[in-house]
Amino acid sequence: MALTVSVIALSCQSQTRDQQTTTVQELKPITNYGFTIDSVLKHVKTLSSAAFEGRRTGTPGALKAKQYIIETFDALDVKPLLEDFEQPFTFTTGSKTYNAVNVLGLIEGTQYHDKYVVISAHYDHEGIKNGTIYNGADDNASGVGALFAFAEYFKTNPPQHNVILAAFDGEELGLKGAYYYVDNPIIELNNIVLNLNFDMISRSDSHELFAVGTRYSEVLKETVESFENLGKVNLVIGHEGLDSTDNWTNSSDQAAFHNKGIPFIYFGVPDHKDYHEPTDVYENIDQQFLLDAVQTLLSVFTQLDTKQL
Ligand SMILES: [Zn+2]
Repeated sequence: MALTVSVIALSCQSQTRDQQTTTVQELKPITNYGFTIDSVLKHVKTLSSAAFEGRRTGTPGALKAKQYIIETFDALDVKPLLEDFEQPFTFTTGSKTYNAVNVLGLIEGTQYHDKYVVISAHYDHEGIKNGTIYNGADDNASGVGALFAFAEYFKTNPPQHNVILAAFDGEELGLKGAYYYVDNPIIELNNIVLNLNFDMISRSDSHELFAVGTRYSEVLKETVESFENLGKVNLVIGHEGLDSTDNWTNSSDQAAFHNKGIPFIYFGVPDHKDYHEPTDVYENIDQQFLLDAVQTLLSVFTQLDTKQL
């Protein structure tokens, strides 16, 4: 009931805002979202704004993003996984050494006290190149927005499994944050039963959101196969190396978990014309698709959370 009330209250706010600006896309809340619509949109918009300068690892824009994620986790009652939220690390690519920071939060599970699900999204992007900001709204402010939506949902609906919310750094430079995380485990890897990785979830001309990785786990496969699509999103299994399409198994941070034998699902949209272009901006995401995708991820998680993982 509380959910319904908040959705109604939000639509009123959106209407007011609609009258003030023409850039707001018309939204049709067709499901009872488990999160606040305006919050998710605000977070994605903020992280992909010029002030964050494209969030390239080690730059002031990335530090600002890190701080923003920590403050948002804090406000949503997410606990730090370590003494604080930060897992700093360095790496060298070519002649350049980068200072990077993963942001790691914890939600304690109610049922499976020794089992952990890592829900991840990278927060870094390409930064500024030749004076142009690559804002990375879809890639991957959208995924981080989903992490915040999960945190908000867990405030009133705690998961059965422990959940680590991981905003990884250094993805664009070779999945560095995720590999550092699994190579320097804070929680024993044996106790990590699943990684759900979100990378680019906010626009899809075909309405497809791909789920990659279910081929390695019967319970994951069954859950995704039997999932009833929500709203604008068509959740499809694919890009797993079983057909002629590109294999995305190692295309984002889930690769680090797969490499350690941990079951995973990577969720992402097909590449689009603004992929890794300065035009990957908030104005070019599909707000309805983003919201329905976040709800899809939340629903897949809650279904899996009740099962033996
Ligand atoms: Zn990405």
